[in-house]
Amino acid sequence: MSGKRPEPVRTTTPARIRLAAADGGPVEVAPPPPNAPLVVRGLTVSYGEKPALFSVDATVAAGALTAVIGPNGAGKSTFLKAALGIAPRVSGTVTAFGRPLEEARGRIAYVPQRASVDWDFPVRVIDVALMGLYREVGLLGRITGARRARAMAALARVGMDGFADRQIGRLSGGQQQRVFLARALAQSADLYLLDEPFAGVDAATEKAIIAVLRDLRAEGRSVVCVHHDLATVTDYFDRVLMLNLRRIAEGPVAEAFTAESLQATYGGRLETAHIAGLHLTA
Ligand code: ADP
Ligand code: MG
Repeated sequence: MSGKRPEPVRTTTPARIRLAAADGGPVEVAPPPPNAPLVVRGLTVSYGEKPALFSVDATVAAGALTAVIGPNGAGKSTFLKAALGIAPRVSGTVTAFGRPLEEARGRIAYVPQRASVDWDFPVRVIDVALMGLYREVGLLGRITGARRARAMAALARVGMDGFADRQIGRLSGGQQQRVFLARALAQSADLYLLDEPFAGVDAATEKAIIAVLRDLRAEGRSVVCVHHDLATVTDYFDRVLMLNLRRIAEGPVAEAFTAESLQATYGGRLETAHIAGLHLTA
């Protein structure tokens, strides 16, 4: 032996990332249901040199509300974008409803983080809701009365039908969030991906949104929310995916949302007293 220490696994180039993911990725014990809404295997995503997600395995269960939690920069938004096929994937696979992502894309609706939207864009509430139909209508397709009615029904579901002609920039944060949820509802998808839908909204909007999400679940649809409020995880969600670059834990809230996995996910950023106040079930 030369006495040289082996080089640590550094994630400096995509090629290295791919090797490390193939060699060192976690091994799944039970295979996921073949038609699960979303199955992610060995997913590594990198913007430039720095990976945002590393060798992540995750399975979204059908007919459940799933929270994706983790500290800022953990890769939560990136996870949703990977599920939409719009994140720079270095390695790994993403399938939806047992199909390649491209074939299932129409069954997935997305509500982006409110902060990432340009709210000065001059568009009315009804136009935003109608955007949910673009996939079936096409950009130059006709907006028929029936389609307009569907968009209005989606707005009614979030209590925003009275604002159809209002410019979106003139709504409150909570109202804007509802309109974007309406856009996703108009799409009538089977898998809903929402990025921090409760961030910066008023209490009435939070109630309205969780009621809609529960209705979607009752209809057998699947919902994944990036969620920042640890205190409501147990109330709102059936399952959690805890991320911090890697998958830290995944499963039913009662099993996976533990003090230990919270500590592993947030490290020193979460006070022990805070964890103790969460009334964890395990
Ligand atoms: P989270 O949603 O958990 O806060 P993100 O998925 O937004 O985390 O980001 C994960 C990491 O990837 C962060 O370090 C962030 O700075 C980086 N990142 C996200 N989007 C981009 C991008 N478009 N270009 C470069 N880096 C990005
Ligand atoms: Mg984010």
